[in-house]
Amino acid sequence: MPRFVVLKHDHPETHWDFMLEAGAVLRTWRLNAPPGPGRPVEAVVTFDHRAVYLDYEGPVSGNRGTVGRWDAGTFAWVEDKAERVAVMLSGMHLQGLAVLEFSDVEKWSLRFEPGNCAHEIESVGYRAEDVTMDALWAPWRMSYVASARRPVEGDPCFICQGLAEEDDRHNLIALRAPRSVVVLNRFPYNNGHLLVAPRQHKGQLHELDTDELLDTMESLRRMVRTLDSLMRPAGYNIGLNLGEAAGAGLPGHLHWHVVPRWHGDTNFMPVLADSKVIVQSLETLYDLLTARLREESPVAR
Ligand SMILES: [Zn+2]
Repeated sequence: MPRFVVLKHDHPETHWDFMLEAGAVLRTWRLNAPPGPGRPVEAVVTFDHRAVYLDYEGPVSGNRGTVGRWDAGTFAWVEDKAERVAVMLSGMHLQGLAVLEFSDVEKWSLRFEPGNCAHEIESVGYRAEDVTMDALWAPWRMSYVASARRPVEGDPCFICQGLAEEDDRHNLIALRAPRSVVVLNRFPYNNGHLLVAPRQHKGQLHELDTDELLDTMESLRRMVRTLDSLMRPAGYNIGLNLGEAAGAGLPGHLHWHVVPRWHGDTNFMPVLADSKVIVQSLETLYDLLTARLREESPVAR
């Protein structure tokens, strides 16, 4: 489980730094009052801090006062969107749901709802408009997402970039078909989560010609068969998020998600998921999958 800390800092004036462990850094909001039930507190998003602050109390270098631990513990990601971040805190002091909401420029607010963590995390509901492929498995997906930087607007298209480079293993490209490509999702919802895309950078279904569409669907069909033989899932979620509002993380380049499912996976994954394990298993999975694809007889096209 990632850790969080709330540091009381007396410089330049007293404030509380609310820090969430996300990979190697601590995402940080500066609060004008300690979080607690009742009125939301103002939160100003500030730069990521080094993870050393998880365990540090004392003077801050550069004569910038002293920090003391106000609260610390572990948390689970519930939601992580550009304008809304929700985490279930299990701290010495704070036990419950903290919701950070963007309001203006760097200004956010933090609302805290006390509750029993283990119980509450199952009852966190999504509003209907939030129910996208992202949200369906978000609570346990977030623990892996925290381990790597997610693509942001303006980033180059990782599918096109991977195709242009030659290091398929590094780019997690499992298959280059004539008109389509298969990439392991670096931010998987589940083990074996693949993205199947046309080779061409096209964001609209109508832009695909029949050959591209057919080749993409053929790759999708082939990957399901390969995953079947390799991992024996009980089922799959397969889908296309079309457009940003539908949850497409990379709106400019169409891609179909292939997510293997096992009975009970949403129950055990949040508990067992550890970012390090997932990073290893991505590489392991890549090797297994590409070895299996090489073994298979070439598919008639
Ligand atoms: Zn692209």
